[in-house]
Amino acid sequence: IPDKLPNVGTTIFTVMSKLAADVGALNLAQGFPSFGADPALLDLVNQAMRANHNQYAPMAGVPVLRKAIARKMVDCYGVSYDPDTDITVTSGATEALFAAITAVVQSGTSQGQEPDEVIVFEPAYDSYVPAIELAGGRPVYVSLSPPDYAIDWADVAAKITDRTRLVVMNTPHNPSGHVWTASDVNELARLAEAHNLFVVADEVYEHITFDGRTHHSLMQHPVLRERTFVIGSFGKTFHITGWKIGYCLAPKPLTDAFRKIHQFLTFSVSTPMQYALAGYLRDSEPYASLSSFYERKRDVFLEAIAGSRFVFTPSEGTFFQNVSYVPITREPDAQLAIRLTHEIGVASIPVSVFYHQKTDHHILRFCFAKDDNILLEAGARLTKWS
Ligand code: GLN
Repeated sequence: IPDKLPNVGTTIFTVMSKLAADVGALNLAQGFPSFGADPALLDLVNQAMRANHNQYAPMAGVPVLRKAIARKMVDCYGVSYDPDTDITVTSGATEALFAAITAVVQSGTSQGQEPDEVIVFEPAYDSYVPAIELAGGRPVYVSLSPPDYAIDWADVAAKITDRTRLVVMNTPHNPSGHVWTASDVNELARLAEAHNLFVVADEVYEHITFDGRTHHSLMQHPVLRERTFVIGSFGKTFHITGWKIGYCLAPKPLTDAFRKIHQFLTFSVSTPMQYALAGYLRDSEPYASLSSFYERKRDVFLEAIAGSRFVFTPSEGTFFQNVSYVPITREPDAQLAIRLTHEIGVASIPVSVFYHQKTDHHILRFCFAKDDNILLEAGARLTKWS
């Protein structure tokens, strides 16, 4: 069997969640909430199923949900997208990322020349590079480092060549918790315009920013709006990661290319869930409180490890907190994540896995989308261990 992804094993999220389950550890590794979704949303699923919304949805998504997403973008960002031509409902952000990357990245062999190059900021969420490589593209890495993971835009500019076609970016950023500034967005816009680049914007944590920060969606920049696939997911926003429903927003020519791929990846997405989400988006204003909800959880976790020897900068967004263990041990992060799961029953994600050369800054990522008692217990165990 040909190995189309020779550098890829089983994703770290599967590995660590399985280990956590096997040894009965607190799972602060894979990013998902330990608490339930709003019962009102669950009731809407039941209603949608009873109303017989149980057959294939339209390929692009049910119209009421696409309209609701369009309205949400006007409300949140003051930007309009046409539900018919610019919005596609996808099987989570993961499918949207794959379809968007596949839609624009060309391999060298198909053109008799060098493959397209794609700028990827690392640490990078682990689905970007496999999608680029399966499309026949070549990832070009811009490495970001702790503690602030700031982007050196001169470095980005230096990595752009005449083969660069796409930039994949993510804000708020998993795993670092870093949030792009308005100036980062402007720098990207300048480069994208000058070099005629497409952009895939992974904005799945758009509603989770802390300490008064705002999320700067790329759609709000007129230059970027025309060349960006903006990708979101209801999983993070409504505590329903298992539903796997996301969306891609892009101007019509980009959406046309995107849908050509989407229609043969999944064709369409669970119908009753889409109706439920459409009803929920219409009836409530669920976003405003999410940042303060998670900011408090971040602080519960940070207070629980305040007396430890771990070193950290409070996360700016997402539901992840990175901590450095440099004052405690210098062992490899992948080894330590496994050891802590076994020895103290707390699972985390080693951040080196998100670098292509496994650069190890001795940092573990903890998910704080957990009930307070789990955060307090994990914090107590980590503090005692440290
Ligand atoms: N995005 C989640 C995380 O970063 C996991 C998603 C997955 O398990 N594939 O932990």
